[in-house]
Amino acid sequence: MEKKITKKEAEERIKKLREEVNYHRYLYHVLDKQEISDAALDSLKHELYNLEQRFPDLITPDSPTQRVGGEALEKFKKVEHKVPMLSIEDVFSFEELKDWEERIKKLAPSAKFDYHAEIKMDGLAVSIVYEDGILVEGSTRGDGVIGEDITRNLKTIDAIPLSLRVPNDRDIKEFLEKYGENIDKEKFLKRIKSLSGRIEVRGETFMDKKVLEQLNKEQEKKGEKIFANPRNAAAGSIRQLNPKITASRKLDFYGYDLRADFGQATHLQSHKILRLLGVKENPLNRYAKDLNEIEKFHVHVKKERERLHYWTDGVVAVVNDIKLFNKLGVIGKTPRGMIAYKFPAQEATTIVENVRFNVGRTGVLTPVADLKPVAIGGTIVSHATLHNTDEIKRLGVKIGDTVIIERAGDVIPKVTKVLTKLRTGREKEIQVPKVCPICGGPVVRKAGEVGIYCANKNCFAVDWRKMNHFVKGMEIEGLGPKIIEQLMNEGLVSDPADLYDLEVGDLEPLERFGEKSAQNIVEAINKSKKITLAKFIYALGIRHVGEETANDLAKHFASIEKIKSASLEDLMKVADIGDVVAKSIYEFFQHKKDLKLVDGLLGYIEIEKVQKAKQTLAGKTFVLTGALETMARDQAKEKIRSLGGDVSSSVSKNTDYVVEGAEPGSKYDKAKKLGVKIITEKEFLNMIK
Ligand SMILES: [Zn+2]
Repeated sequence: MEKKITKKEAEERIKKLREEVNYHRYLYHVLDKQEISDAALDSLKHELYNLEQRFPDLITPDSPTQRVGGEALEKFKKVEHKVPMLSIEDVFSFEELKDWEERIKKLAPSAKFDYHAEIKMDGLAVSIVYEDGILVEGSTRGDGVIGEDITRNLKTIDAIPLSLRVPNDRDIKEFLEKYGENIDKEKFLKRIKSLSGRIEVRGETFMDKKVLEQLNKEQEKKGEKIFANPRNAAAGSIRQLNPKITASRKLDFYGYDLRADFGQATHLQSHKILRLLGVKENPLNRYAKDLNEIEKFHVHVKKERERLHYWTDGVVAVVNDIKLFNKLGVIGKTPRGMIAYKFPAQEATTIVENVRFNVGRTGVLTPVADLKPVAIGGTIVSHATLHNTDEIKRLGVKIGDTVIIERAGDVIPKVTKVLTKLRTGREKEIQVPKVCPICGGPVVRKAGEVGIYCANKNCFAVDWRKMNHFVKGMEIEGLGPKIIEQLMNEGLVSDPADLYDLEVGDLEPLERFGEKSAQNIVEAINKSKKITLAKFIYALGIRHVGEETANDLAKHFASIEKIKSASLEDLMKVADIGDVVAKSIYEFFQHKKDLKLVDGLLGYIEIEKVQKAKQTLAGKTFVLTGALETMARDQAKEKIRSLGGDVSSSVSKNTDYVVEGAEPGSKYDKAKKLGVKIITEKEFLNMIK
């Protein structure tokens, strides 16, 4: 349940986020330092971007979302890009990808959208300019408009041709057969044979994984700086004043854009023309007829990426039709017609909404942070462990803080860092409980241990039984007593309402859980959100209230609100409910903690409205005789009553109908004698339809 944010709150948050992002950019670019991971910084930028999308008038030209890359360094000659080198917006889920398509489709409602799917290389974007086929200039992206002249360095990279290749007739013929659809053939043939004028190739320089490993080993030996990631390594290698160093770094290159008119109509053709010209493109790139194929590509590359010889952090979808791409235009400094669909990171930033202390089987009280749900590693996470009170102190975390959450392998997500600069002043200290939050008993701290304990030996057991009863009552499949114990031990749930906050990513890291079983449980829990009133009352575990009594209460009051507010007298009026039971129910709903639980649950649960059937049999009395073929006698009785009729066991002159089943008994004869109407089962079924 996402809380609505007001514009004022958004404004305040946006300001803080910009300051924080700028601070980390400064550390990274100017001081060569990194305090938080790329993933955490991305997460902050993503939140900023989403907030700005929701309140577009809060976008300012100096927002970090409005800029690209780094600035040009003084030591290099400046190069102006004729067409700005833009950056790409990121999305992190298929849903967000579909939202993107929906947005651009609105701008071109009649257009047909297909895509070119590309691997997003984790390197350094460069521009290479050829004049009449000869490499004359190479530059970094810089701020998108002004880059750094790195011509001499780029010339050391083997994969970059110093002069473009003039393709032979066979290659040209093959290209036209395979990819020539809708191309301006005349223009294409003329240009491809002459290579005249300015041809700009854009692409990514990158370092092979093995090369980086080797380089870092050597750097270490020499006591020099280790490169934290391949992008740093590629950037550091290319922005060398001495081209000999660049050459020694064995960089590689893939082209991904052709800025020259060869009559091409699609982005796919641009890529294939690059190949004709002797420029490498990533062989895994492919045509995608729709977003489903982009999704397939994303899944495939994600699975295979460990085996690739380079680093990639996602895939890119490019609107294939060049005219359409240009029509979509640019927003800020990102083209609308392409998007980076990134792979899930193992870290993200989110907000601590609450901290609870849960009692485990040994009585230990574990602090658990309830988080604003966030995607980490491809699943949604809503809880993180804080381990113990010492850890809370070490982190300095407060309720309301923005924190970095890490999810590594099969361990419960944890809070690794508090971003204190994002505080508003409204954060709350975490109160270490003096009494057990479950049973109210005393809390003890054992000497030499970091944990605090509930001294009540029964505390966990009582709570555990309550949870089991609830799960059984709500008919949640797959949540057995063992799993409940596990969830309680890990601090993921302390009362039944907590079940409804569980996300797949909370369960997945637990022992005995996999992605599938985690999904199944979350689905089963969600399924129980729709429940009858009787089952809900039963699941609450009110003393003396079994399934029968729960049924009686539901029938009598027909709403949970009425049961909650019923007086003792009201309750005693219910048929089959005696003094003791009535008192127990009354007391349950007077008890603050129980009431809070019920209200908490009602925030998630929708009680099914029982439609009162039309009272078509009102005032009519039935007598059943003999065996019915289509239903049991009890079912027939219930049906008659639900339609407002009465059922009697003996025939009298007040009887309206006798229903005649197979082998009717003496009631049949009596009905005949009294002249009571006798109907067949078929006639009866018609009446109750
Ligand atoms: Zn306790």
